[in-house]
Amino acid sequence: MRLAIISDIHGNLEALTSALALIDKQSVDEIVCLGDVVGYGASPNECIDMVRQRCKIILLGNHDAAALDLNIAEQFTLNARLSAQWTYENLLPDNKQFLKQLLLTKTIGDILLVHASPYDPEEWHYIFNYFEAKEAFRSFTERICFIGHSHVPLILSEEGEIRHVKKEGRYIVNVGSIGQPRDGNPLLSYGLFDTEAWEYTNVRAEYDKYKAAHKVREAGLPRVLADRLFLGI
Ligand code: ZN
Repeated sequence: MRLAIISDIHGNLEALTSALALIDKQSVDEIVCLGDVVGYGASPNECIDMVRQRCKIILLGNHDAAALDLNIAEQFTLNARLSAQWTYENLLPDNKQFLKQLLLTKTIGDILLVHASPYDPEEWHYIFNYFEAKEAFRSFTERICFIGHSHVPLILSEEGEIRHVKKEGRYIVNVGSIGQPRDGNPLLSYGLFDTEAWEYTNVRAEYDKYKAAHKVREAGLPRVLADRLFLGI
C-alpha cells in the first residue's frame, strides 16, 4: 500500500489543494492526516471539509484542541494564541463537533501515527533531534512512527538522524507541514510511504503562497502569519 501522510495544514487551503492534486498523481492508496488542520491560516472550515472528504484517518493536533478549548492556547506564543482565538470564533459548529471526536493516535499494522510524540501524546512534546526522541522510541512498539507538530521534516533511527528509512530498524519520521513549513524552505511538505517496499519519500512542492497570505491579512490575523509563509519559518 502506498500511503500519503499529511500534517499541520493550519487552515492553508491553497497549500492543501496543491498537495492533494499532487498526491492524486502519485498512485497513492490512502491519505492520512496527523492533525493541526486548523490554526494560523484563514480557511479552517474549508480545510476540515477537504480533509474529511479525502483522508482515511485524521488525528487531533494541539491547534485543533485549542480551537475547541482556548485554555490550551494559554501556553501558545502570542500570535498562535491570537489565531486560536480567531479560529475558535470562526469555526462552524459542525466542524467543532467533528474535531471533538478525533483521536490522538492510530496504528496501521507496523505503523504508528501521532501528531506530536508517542510519549504522552496529549502533552504535545516536540521531537527535533535524537535526544528528544529517546523517550519517544521507548513509548511505542511499532517499527515506524510518523509525526508532525514541529513543522520540520526529519528522519530519526534509534542511533540518530539519517537520510533514508531502511528495511531494518525502527524510525520516527516527521513528515513536515503542509500549511506552514518551518525548516527555512517555504515549499509545502508531506510524506509518501510504501508499506511493502518500506520506502519513505519526503515530497516538497510549490503552492499559491500569495493567495494564502492575502487571505490571512484579509481575515485580520497577525501579519506575521502571512509573511512567514514566504520564508518557511
Ligand atoms: Zn502545527
